[in-house]
Amino acid sequence: MARECGSCSLCCKVMGIGALAKPGGQWCPHCLPGKGCGIYGERPGECRTFNCDWLLNDTLAPEWKPEKSNIVLRSSGNKIVAHVDPSTPGQWRKSPFFERLTALMHHGLDNNLLVYVAVSENYTLLLPDRHEELGHLGAEDEVMLKTIRTPVGFAYEVEVTRGARV
Ligand code: SF4
Ligand code: SF4
Repeated sequence: MARECGSCSLCCKVMGIGALAKPGGQWCPHCLPGKGCGIYGERPGECRTFNCDWLLNDTLAPEWKPEKSNIVLRSSGNKIVAHVDPSTPGQWRKSPFFERLTALMHHGLDNNLLVYVAVSENYTLLLPDRHEELGHLGAEDEVMLKTIRTPVGFAYEVEVTRGARV
């Protein structure tokens, strides 16, 4: 992996850590922001295996580095989530982030991928005709998107099944 975290620690704030019962959007009590993890040798497995998209994908420009963008982009399974620092909740609506997220959303719809914005675990699903606020989503909640062809284009219906095993 060519890229390095350096002084960035933002995932330790915006991501939820189940093993520590740490909700997304709050600093981990073990984080030394800008310096790293205070329990590095004993950190949970989910911290050991975590890589944000900026680390993995060098098509994301330097301004996407989470400590600059205030957004941790994470792709997993059939979703891409832009986890936004709650101290700047509107950051994803700014350029160039909004344009890239919108392009990802259109590409995702053609490839069975949904693109979300999450601020403190409150999710918004990006769609061509709207931004659908879904509220808090847990790991066991399931989102289904139905695409309907209409005489004037596509329409989208969203259904959330709370507590479903995924
Ligand atoms: S958000 Fe990405 S770049 Fe920043 S510390 Fe976490 S993994 Fe590293
Ligand atoms: S345990 Fe360490 S790596 Fe994991 S969230 Fe806390 S500070 Fe970050």
